[in-house]
This record gives sequence, structure tokens and C-alpha cells, in this order.
Amino acid sequence: MSAALFPDPVSVTVRAPAKINVYLGVGKVRPDGFHPLETVYQAVSLYDDVTVTDAEEWSVTTVVDGIHVDGAAIPDDDTNIALRAGRALVAHHGLECAASIEVRKSIPVAGGMAGGSADAAATLVALDRLWSLDTADDVLLSIAADLGSDVPFALVGGTATGTGRGEIVTPVEDNGSWWWVVVFNEEGLSTPSVYGAYDLLEGGDHDYRIRPQMLEALRAPEGAEDLVVFLYNDLEDAAFYLRPDLQRVAEAALECGAATTLLSGSGPTMLAAATSAEDARAIAGRLAEQGYDRTAVVHGPVAGAHVVAYQ
Ligand code: ATP
Repeated sequence: MSAALFPDPVSVTVRAPAKINVYLGVGKVRPDGFHPLETVYQAVSLYDDVTVTDAEEWSVTTVVDGIHVDGAAIPDDDTNIALRAGRALVAHHGLECAASIEVRKSIPVAGGMAGGSADAAATLVALDRLWSLDTADDVLLSIAADLGSDVPFALVGGTATGTGRGEIVTPVEDNGSWWWVVVFNEEGLSTPSVYGAYDLLEGGDHDYRIRPQMLEALRAPEGAEDLVVFLYNDLEDAAFYLRPDLQRVAEAALECGAATTLLSGSGPTMLAAATSAEDARAIAGRLAEQGYDRTAVVHGPVAGAHVVAYQ
């Protein structure tokens, strides 16, 4: 869909995906407090939709659209990352305009799936189209990186490596279609606490780089099994140390037929790898019988932030 076909939209809706990290390698903490990362992101089929409309003043509202979304945890003030994204774009262009932002949310909050980052990326693209700003891709990526480490990937989508803090995104060829059961968790797990435990337990004194064989498995998939051996998250032991119940989720998923399991980002969401859509649904069904009923079946890779409606 091209903006030129809709020259003066009143509002624009952009859809942005949740992400998983199919690989997350973490190095030693840097003097600035950040940990250097090497990660492989994959955008998956769980989305937030952001609609922006020209307005006198900035505002942001959330409509809860997913059964696992805790609307009360989402700020409606200047700390909402979607609003911060809007202000940052306007500041870059030296404009004085404002917009109302409505976030229709299906990505769980603080679940390690970068839902806030998706909203920020969607807002950048939506406002760029609403006001025909024609912002260059590298500028959008740079504004995104200033907002948060995962925001550039939400713009790009697909499957990509992330280096630096995760904000330096490079698309990789992914010819597979991967199925996952996402197991959400009611109780939050703070990202700094997981990194703190990681520093104590492991410290990052190891080779955390992405294995070239993993990128090869993504490029020429013979089947999910090829990738499964490379799925890895350096933060998993730290998260399991803080939250032993997450290890029990992993054990249950394996018993229910998962090819392997993985902590999503810094948790507490867990991922169970499946070999097909049917397999994923069967695993989710068996997990529900064991009391793990906060799940979603998703696939990846999917597109990054993209327009779904001009009105
Ligand atoms: P990441 O994996 O990048 O750490 P996450 O998925 O764990 O992200 P988010 O859902 O992005 O976590 O939210 C993290 C915190 O950011 C929330 O606790 C919430 O208070 C705040 N927040 C600000 N703006 C938003 C937004 N638009 N949607 C969700 N949370 C937001």
C-alpha cells in the first residue's frame, strides 16, 4: 500500500510484531552499564496495531486486544514509549504538530517480547505516513535506536542479527517457517535483575558470538531440527536461578513434545519449539491440560512495522 494512493489520510494504522530471540549471547558488562549482545531476532505473528490521528495535543490510549495483556501496566503519560517515539520524530523534523495515538495491544506487557518497542516502531512509521515526512530509513533506525535497543528490529522485522546493545540490526536470510508455542507468565521478571544475576553467575567471560552454522541453518533449512540445536539464550540460567518455576515450564513443554525450549529475551516468557502448526497446537493443548493455559501459537519470520490502513 503506497501513501501516494492516499495523499491526505486522517489517520494511519501500522501493525508491528513481537520478537523472540532465537539466539542471545551476552558479554561482560560495559562501563556504561550495558551488556554487549549478539542476538538473532525473529519477528513472530503476535502484533500490536497503532493508529495515529492528527490532534492539538499529544495523547496515548491503549485498547487491550489480547487475553494475556495487562492493560493496567501500560502508562498513558509521557513515559509511554509510543508517545516518546512520536515526540522524537517531531523533534527530529523540527515540527510542532501532535497526534493522538491508539495502541491496540495483543503483545503481553513486560514479557520479553518487546511489545513497547513494537509500539514505538509502529508509531514512527504511522506518523511518517500521516504527515508525509518521507523520513529516510537510516534516520528512522537511528531515532528508533535512541528509543530502545529492540526498536530498530521492530522496524525491520523478519529474521536479523542484533549487535551492540541489540540496536545494530542486520537482516539475515531465513528460508524457513518456524512454529513456536509462547508460554506467558503472570508474574513479571525485571530485566535488570536477570542481568544482575547473570553477572554474578556467569559474568559474560566467554565466546558469546553467533555461530555461523546457525545462520546457515536459517538460510538452508532442512527442517526445524537443524535450527533447534543452535537455539540458545545466555540469560536462561540466571532467569531459572531467580525463578525456578520457569525451569518447570521448560520441563513441562519438553514432556508435552517440544523439540526444545528457550527463555524469550530476559523472560519470563518461555518458548517451546515445534516442527509444524499442528505440532505447536498439540503442544499447547497438552500444556493447557497441565495448567499452563496462558499460551499462544505463533510463527515466524513475519514483516516488521507496516501500514495496514489509511483512513
Ligand atoms: P523488552 O523485551 O524490550 O524488555 P518487554 O516486552 O519485556 O520488552 P514491554 O512490554 O515493552 O516489555 O514493557 C516494559 C515496560 O515499559 C512496561 O512495564 C511498561 O510499564 C512500560 N511501557 C511503556 N510504554 C509501553 C507500551 N507502549 N506498551 C507496553 N509497556 C510500555
